[in-house]
Amino acid sequence: AKKLGRNNFQFYTPAMNEEALERVRIESALRNALERDEFVLHYQPQVELASGQIVGMEALIRWQHPELGMVPPVRFIGVAEDTGLIVPIGAWVLRTACAQNKAWLDAGLGRLRVAVNLSARQFAAPNLIAQIEAVLADTGLPPACLDIELTESLFMDDITVAVELLHSMKALGVSMSIDDFGTGYSSLSYLSRFPIDVLKIDRSFVSAINRDANDAALVSSIIALAHNLKLSVIAEGVETAEQLAYLRGHGCDEMQGYFFSKPVPAAEFEQMLRQRRRL
Ligand code: C2E
Ligand code: CA
Ligand code: CA
Ligand code: CA
Repeated sequence: AKKLGRNNFQFYTPAMNEEALERVRIESALRNALERDEFVLHYQPQVELASGQIVGMEALIRWQHPELGMVPPVRFIGVAEDTGLIVPIGAWVLRTACAQNKAWLDAGLGRLRVAVNLSARQFAAPNLIAQIEAVLADTGLPPACLDIELTESLFMDDITVAVELLHSMKALGVSMSIDDFGTGYSSLSYLSRFPIDVLKIDRSFVSAINRDANDAALVSSIIALAHNLKLSVIAEGVETAEQLAYLRGHGCDEMQGYFFSKPVPAAEFEQMLRQRRRL
């Protein structure tokens, strides 16, 4: 039992022990994962609704550990954040995604936009802008072919610093998306103040389109709001034809989700590009 204060004891249950143990196990394994080359990126297509064509992809990290097996990001991103390991891991993701996109560009497979998730730790790192600039220079990827995905929580600490950082990022020529839009607590006012390009509507709203009329109304309102602010909209987690029809009917720009494809390894993504797979 851990003493919390006078006469206040919190007892660990076996389940909590298990969780703590798992964290420790993951943390120590995570320390060697980069040098042992255990990470791989999967890519999930982003499809333009007007043309039905793949116009971009989100890079999503996968960790293949020899004993733990395939560890999903939900089980290690939090640990990586807490330990700061997300900074070198995130740098690897950025470089790998940009190099891959440049290879596809050079192979004549299209001028695609690759989206990379940015963590809070990376956002707070003093060399972020220089790092992105160096990766673009080293890989030769046109800046417009890189999209940085940010969550609303990144802006909570210091809004002035965030605005400045986003403007510096914008000056590099990359595009910027707000990820998981609608799940954060921040006010809508930042939408007009920040130089962002894309809103990604969170899967929780999209999945409720056919279940809940209020959620459906929220989705169409977000699309209208975004368009009024000259932002484009990507719907995340699209799984059914009904969801797609609704999004199309309300002028959503792009979709991403299992209905078209789950995230796949680079070789498989390349096949989709070569076959010119369409919605
Ligand atoms: P996210 O950025 O919101 O990514 C979307 C997640 O939804 C992905 O889960 C994706 O596989 C899943 N998804 C996509 N379409 C569908 C669908 O139609 N239905 C359902 N049920 N799920 C769908 P994943 O790959 O497990 O990643 C989970 C989270 O881990 C991501 O959420 C992101 O926050 C984080 N993450 C993944 N890769 C990275 C990374 O390289 N860096 C950082 N900082 N975070 C990452
Ligand atoms: Ca994302
Ligand atoms: Ca998301
Ligand atoms: Ca999410």
